[in-house]
Amino acid sequence: MELIENLQIRGMSRSFGTAAALYDFNLDIKGGTFVTLLGPSGCGKSTALNCLAGLLDLTAGEIILDGSPIHHIPAEKRGFGMVFQNYALFPHLTVIRNVAYGLESHAMPKTEQDRRIRAALDLVHLDIDEFGHRYPAQLSGGQQQRLAIARTIVLEPKLLLLDEPLSNLDAKLRNEMRIEIKRLHKQLGLTTIYVTHDQAEAMSLSDLVVVMRKGQIEQVGTPQDIYNCPKSLYVADFMGYSNHLPVTITGREGDAWAIQTENGLNLLAATTVENIADWTPGARAWACSRPDEVVAEPETSVNRMRGTVQLVEYVGKEFEVLVRVAGTENTQLLIHSEKAPALETSIDFGVRPDRLLLFPFDANSDSLLTTSRATARVAN
Ligand code: ATP
Repeated sequence: MELIENLQIRGMSRSFGTAAALYDFNLDIKGGTFVTLLGPSGCGKSTALNCLAGLLDLTAGEIILDGSPIHHIPAEKRGFGMVFQNYALFPHLTVIRNVAYGLESHAMPKTEQDRRIRAALDLVHLDIDEFGHRYPAQLSGGQQQRLAIARTIVLEPKLLLLDEPLSNLDAKLRNEMRIEIKRLHKQLGLTTIYVTHDQAEAMSLSDLVVVMRKGQIEQVGTPQDIYNCPKSLYVADFMGYSNHLPVTITGREGDAWAIQTENGLNLLAATTVENIADWTPGARAWACSRPDEVVAEPETSVNRMRGTVQLVEYVGKEFEVLVRVAGTENTQLLIHSEKAPALETSIDFGVRPDRLLLFPFDANSDSLLTTSRATARVAN
């Protein structure tokens, strides 16, 4: 199997008519890396993957593989493998024939062909004796997914491209297949580019996460970087910082920003935004947190808040509690609690200052948060 050293994507763009589906996409990928393109529906993930695969021409930019431009090379000559969301199996061919299909155009002795088919099915843990002669309709969703992967890796692709391959599977199978994909990636030393809108999937699989927004890259980093240091409200929102408190900056206290909530509570917060030079006292901001980092009955008095329990949901190990913040009409936060509090009772909760992240408050961010606040209201 031929492995790649590096893939450079320079200004990759693709428009449909006058609409830019992908714009100025730049990324350097070292061979053997697992990269995830993460973002909501319509942000250009599949367009980027299809451009890399050669299924879509670029409107501008270049793709350079180990020093040679490849963007003008047709898909079938790039030597890349692609697994589609709907698997795209041949329904009238058996499992073995589905895997063999791509090999048939390669001049190769029958014994070598058989060896590769068996090895590919082995890799995805599909037993050739049990499943080899079945048709796709006689397989479960997970087995069809394994077959789709086997059919791609049998061709020993230099680059593996996967477009939301797990979205048709139930949660348990999705977890199992996630582990399988990671194992295959490591075992074969493949460079893999994986498209998903599921942040948990992106976190667990990737070496590098590329968060996309409206056809452009919003942030690139390791899963830990993106999770802990989202550089914009958009990325934070996508990474589960679903609690948004409107606040006013009041000053600095050591390393932290001093802020005041709408109901006059003084808190301390941090920021991961790079350019915050214009944050003078009086500036407005969003203070965002992840529900699992806001805890009930905190041990310290720092950032201690109070509210009324609106809704309690068991999420395994802990309870997720929707709380209306005291002194506000409808500011609600989701918090975590070890015990199930009673509805309409008062509850104290808190968040560490370094896990309460500030983002600039502007018209754009306001519209971005409309959906999540609307969701919170429905929950109420
Ligand atoms: P999803 O997660 O829903 O698959 P995505 O992030 O993969 O979304 P793309 O499929 O890349 O998004 O689409 C990006 C944008 O380009 C969308 O606005 C889409 O409507 C548009 N688009 C994609 N393909 C075409 C096409 N063939 N003709 C016109 N517009 C297109």
